Amino acid sequence: MEDKRINNFNAGPAALPLEVLTEIKDSFLNFKNSGMSVVEVSHRSKWFDNVINDAVQRTKRLLNLDARYEVLFLQGGASLQFGMIPMNFLNADNSADYVNTGTWSTKAIKEAEIQNKKITVVASSEDKNFSYIPENIQFNRDAAYVHITSNNTIKGTQWKNFPDTEGVPVIADMSSDIMSRRIDVDRFGLIYAGAQKNIGPAGVCMVIIRKDMLELVPDGLPSMLKYTTYAQKKSMYNTPPCFAIYAVSLVLKWIEETCGGLDKMEEINKEKAKLLYDYIDNSGFYKSTVMVGSRSDMNVVFRLPSEDLEVQFISDALKNGFGGLKGHRSVGGCRASIYNPTSIKAVSALVDFMKIFENKMG
Ligand SMILES: *Cc1c(COP(=O)(O)O)cnc(C)c1O
Repeated sequence: MEDKRINNFNAGPAALPLEVLTEIKDSFLNFKNSGMSVVEVSHRSKWFDNVINDAVQRTKRLLNLDARYEVLFLQGGASLQFGMIPMNFLNADNSADYVNTGTWSTKAIKEAEIQNKKITVVASSEDKNFSYIPENIQFNRDAAYVHITSNNTIKGTQWKNFPDTEGVPVIADMSSDIMSRRIDVDRFGLIYAGAQKNIGPAGVCMVIIRKDMLELVPDGLPSMLKYTTYAQKKSMYNTPPCFAIYAVSLVLKWIEETCGGLDKMEEINKEKAKLLYDYIDNSGFYKSTVMVGSRSDMNVVFRLPSEDLEVQFISDALKNGFGGLKGHRSVGGCRASIYNPTSIKAVSALVDFMKIFENKMG
């Protein structure tokens, strides 16, 4: 079975560690001697209580979160957060700053504008087709928050240093790079991430919120759209996505116990990205579309000399056991998503295949 698995470079849902899939499989019918599957136990049972607590505690340990931060699990994906953030934190008297670094930032901005909230787009990299992360941004001192997308899954850019907002809370969409590197959490008022890129299957969105942000949440919002509901009820106001949370807990365990923590994870991720970028930069056949200094360690976007060659590359790759290399439909080209579960070995194998293809076609 395992030897039929491909090298999976999908952007999301994406590859999960084999150890995690195996543990899910082995405990699926009789979870912790409950006599039930993990998808059959009550979310109010001790079994599930242990699962969600484990996921929260591992998140706190991995990211060094202190008592000011709550870890919550919501449904609706990262896309619901685009709407909930302005709904919960903006009112008639305040405003927020947004940095536009691509498709997902643009969607976050749109969801604030739909609600007629006051926001300022303080910087954008749209002038160069979102191929870089803007620098030296002037933020509004009195903004309620600054919204950024830490890793731009589609264009392949990533913030290497987070902006100094002089105390204004940063809110970051970390869907495609959460738990891939160490972060200085202090400056963040809220971090959110759809699980299906780096930390689990689709169906759950992790939200890390600093408790003082909850003071901004107005009365009069529906319960399911208020962060206070999730914080007060420990993500269990209603039935949470139990299976997805379980899988997230196993991925976090894998990062902590099998990989050796976030420092080690970051080291491995940097090595994988370097393998690919170094090869691409030296090849003269493949070309990176992203400026040096802004390149994502998670999503490596590249082009070939023609669209015909790209089509053939993607199809030849698949025949050789490399999947998910097609760029996002909005930008074309190729993209290798190399999230945490993708091994150095898989990336080396991809580079070897790219060499063979270049020698044949270049
Ligand atoms: C995939 C992605 C999203 C959308 O996530 P959903 O969970 O499908 O809503 C948002 N932001 C970023 C950065 C993403 O990569």
